[in-house]
Amino acid sequence: MDYTMTDEQKAIKENFANFCQKEIAPRAQMLDRASEHEVHLLIKENMKKLASIGYLGMPHEEQYGGTSNDLISQAIAGEEVARACASTFLSCGASYGLFGMPLKIFGNAGQKQKYLPGIIKGDIVGCFGLTEPEAGSDAAAIRTTAVKKGAEWILNGTKTFITNGPIADVSLIMAYNDKAAGPGAGVTAFLVEKDAPGFSVGKAFDKLGFRGSPTSELVLEDCRVPESAVLGNVGHGFIQAMQTLEFGRIGMATVSLGIAMACMDEANKYSKERKAFGKPINRYQEISFKLADMMIMTDISRLLIYRAAWAKEAKDPESAVIASCAKLFASESATQIASMAVQVYGGYGYIKDFAVERLYRDAKLGEIGEGTSEIQRVLIAKSILARFKK
Ligand SMILES: Cc1cc2nc3c(=O)[nH]c(=O)nc-3n(C[C@H](O)[C@H](O)[C@H](O)COP(=O)(O)OP(=O)(O)OC[C@H]3O[C@@H](n4cnc5c(N)ncnc54)[C@H](O)[C@@H]3O)c2cc1C
Repeated sequence: MDYTMTDEQKAIKENFANFCQKEIAPRAQMLDRASEHEVHLLIKENMKKLASIGYLGMPHEEQYGGTSNDLISQAIAGEEVARACASTFLSCGASYGLFGMPLKIFGNAGQKQKYLPGIIKGDIVGCFGLTEPEAGSDAAAIRTTAVKKGAEWILNGTKTFITNGPIADVSLIMAYNDKAAGPGAGVTAFLVEKDAPGFSVGKAFDKLGFRGSPTSELVLEDCRVPESAVLGNVGHGFIQAMQTLEFGRIGMATVSLGIAMACMDEANKYSKERKAFGKPINRYQEISFKLADMMIMTDISRLLIYRAAWAKEAKDPESAVIASCAKLFASESATQIASMAVQVYGGYGYIKDFAVERLYRDAKLGEIGEGTSEIQRVLIAKSILARFKK
């Protein structure tokens, strides 16, 4: 087994690290503390900046402006983006990934041509609308409906916690067109543009962390979309959403790793400079052992993420459960690492002027978004039980 990065992967890491530390990281604190209106402007600027170095096109085909990079290369770049600014990673991921990947896999040529070049350039923002007020972990319980009337579909329902909701030009909306057929055959995914009649952005959320990535409800009240808005086949929407979340889980693991790496950067720097009882605090075992634990946890997270990315590329039948393992471990590690980083900073870690305070708040989302830790454990346990049944 060879753990060496290819020359191309090394170049991606270096380019993204340099660019993100120069262009994105210095704006992370400002983005976290900006007003709602400023956040909308700043996050779109960050997305455009990252589009300029090809980040939003990494998974997409050349004919739409992408570069068709493998998933490990995407994770390498993503770690550097998240290390610089987790909110920027999340908003980019919701657009080019959660919206862009199902479009890439299930969309027809006309749909891809309409949206993908804009998504890749950062001119169009996309979002993914699955969760509803009464349906998060239990996604099959969504209540949004789609009824065919002539050449149009009429959508009714409310989506909640939607990343990029307030700034999205186009949303992927999952709705039941045939409740009796169940989620496997009765849900359809629709491409809904922001000016579709009956579509509106609902309540925006004031969040604990990821404050630089806007989140809101989306409201569909007799929202009319044409037949051409159906993604892939009628009735395939739930399966499309679940397949998308497999990529999303690798993404969520990657943002957690980036947050953990930023915590490690900060804790290492600070513990070298801060003196107590006449010597730098990193000379105390209580502090240096925290740094050691951080290193081990980030290293394991990265290995799991690369393995999940590799398994997905290789179409390994275990790829979904490996993605769950990566997401679970990386996100829980990130919250522990962020807590350790705040501890290393002592009182200063509790003050908003220092990045570890933001990182501590940001880290928690990893255990909730794209399937909670509990749901990941349910999925992993199911896979183990099935294996031991044989
Ligand atoms: C900032 C943010 C951004 C988001 N972005 C998006 C987005 O872009 N698009 C989108 O569609 N959604 C998005 N979400 C929604 C997110 O995916 C859900 O919040 C998540 O799946 C959990 O659903 P819930 O909040 O309804 O919690 P619930 O499902 O109500 O869960 C509550 C608790 O019960 C536990 N629980 C539930 N069922 C079980 C079970 N079977 N076994 C054990 N424990 C269980 C959960 O683990 C959790 O601890 C976002 C959420 C946040 C906070």
